[in-house]
Amino acid sequence: MAKGIISCPKCGHAQDMEIPEAICQFSYLCFGCKETILSETKCCVFCDYGDKPCHSGKKEAEVMIVE
Ligand SMILES: [Zn+2]
Ligand SMILES: [Zn+2]
Repeated sequence: MAKGIISCPKCGHAQDMEIPEAICQFSYLCFGCKETILSETKCCVFCDYGDKPCHSGKKEAEVMIVE
């Protein structure tokens, strides 16, 4: 399973998170400030705050071009 690094928009804490392949994860618990962070735009917390977007909604061709 792919992993991404999410930076908390409230406290700036960065943590490794597994990116779910089947679902869009629209919230996560920050270990820094202990708050539940909700995605506000796009599709999930990885797309909003992560270092890489999730798989869903992304065409493989676009990903290959980037990499
Ligand atoms: Zn936080
Ligand atoms: Zn997403």
